Amino acid sequence: MDCLFCKIINGDIPSKKVYEDDSVFAFYDIDPQAPVHILIIPKEHIASAAEVNESNSGVVAHIFEVAAFLASDMGLSDGFRVVTNCGDSAGQSVKHLHFHLLSGRDFTWPPG
Ligand code: AMP
Ligand code: ZN
Repeated sequence: MDCLFCKIINGDIPSKKVYEDDSVFAFYDIDPQAPVHILIIPKEHIASAAEVNESNSGVVAHIFEVAAFLASDMGLSDGFRVVTNCGDSAGQSVKHLHFHLLSGRDFTWPPG
């Protein structure tokens, strides 16, 4: 499949890995929007949050466990944001479900 993040998971495209287990992979974003900007993705190809259903939602719960683990492990005690962009109007540029873990600065609400 011609998917950038599937290629990163397979090691065909290099990345700065921060975490990996049987179902989840996490790596530093190539264009960081905060001092800490990590992408957490399922190893299974799921196109976006719109494709989450009863049969694949377990990995989404696990991604949030990984986010909490990384936040604790990296000492992000001032707070962090977890974001997924779904679809063109939300700015999703890679069609493989991914959660941005952002930290190290203040964030505005509502987001732009
Ligand atoms: P989104 O725009 O929400 O789909 O997020 C895609 C993210 O992937 C962006 O923040 C990009 O900077 C990031 N990205 C694109 N290519 C790479 C890459 N080769 N390695 C790491 N991050 C990437
Ligand atoms: Zn993929």
